[in-house]
Amino acid sequence: MKIKVSEIPEEGLDVDENVSLRINEHETPARLEIHVDKTGSEVVVRGNISARMELACSRCLREFSREVSAPLDLVYRPVEEIAGESPELATEELDTGFYRADELDTDVIAAEQLILSMPIKVLCGDACKGICPGCGRDLNVEGCVCPAGKDPANSKGQELKGYFNKDVKN
Ligand SMILES: [Zn+2]
Ligand SMILES: [Zn+2]
Repeated sequence: MKIKVSEIPEEGLDVDENVSLRINEHETPARLEIHVDKTGSEVVVRGNISARMELACSRCLREFSREVSAPLDLVYRPVEEIAGESPELATEELDTGFYRADELDTDVIAAEQLILSMPIKVLCGDACKGICPGCGRDLNVEGCVCPAGKDPANSKGQELKGYFNKDVKN
């Protein structure tokens, strides 16, 4: 939803809405529960965002969905006001965003904050066995078919060594 900043009442505005956001090519249902306050031209947004997100396991690469939730504590300033300031100075302020033409878009806030809250490394489960570096099989689903007694990590190292030797000779 779009909020007209000039129309935010003195006591603030409560927003509780279900939104559908497109994140990483996935339609993501999310819930935004925030309180919006205005101080001069600054808008303070506090509350919570939660969503069921499609994530990819960084160990076995499988996709799975997980409920994520993040607290919000943000300040928004009119982009027109920083026109004279250096952009470096403005972006240095953490958790400061900008709104344009008296309009604050809560869908944009929700999408930005969800992406920021996403963990860099995520596992489908603590017990995920991952993919064998030797044969490439998903060890959660099927067994390793590497030749017996051959350490896949070692064989990879040997291949690499051969490659570099060849390179030196050339
Ligand atoms: Zn996994
Ligand atoms: Zn294997």
